[in-house]
Amino acid sequence: MAVPKSKISRSRRGMRRSHDSISHGNHAECPNCGELKRPHHVCLSCGYYDAKEVVAVDA
Ligand SMILES: [Zn+2]
Repeated sequence: MAVPKSKISRSRRGMRRSHDSISHGNHAECPNCGELKRPHHVCLSCGYYDAKEVVAVDA
């Protein structure tokens, strides 16, 4: 088993983890229903894209 030669200090561990946080994905308001939706994707709550209903959503 590979064994670390020396202890990683709290400071160095923190420096490594400074890039580990995940960022919030993009989202924009649906112009039809106002729900947040992903850009360039059909709205999941009303099924609209580009001001037209393209997917039937049972509600
Ligand atoms: Zn919508």
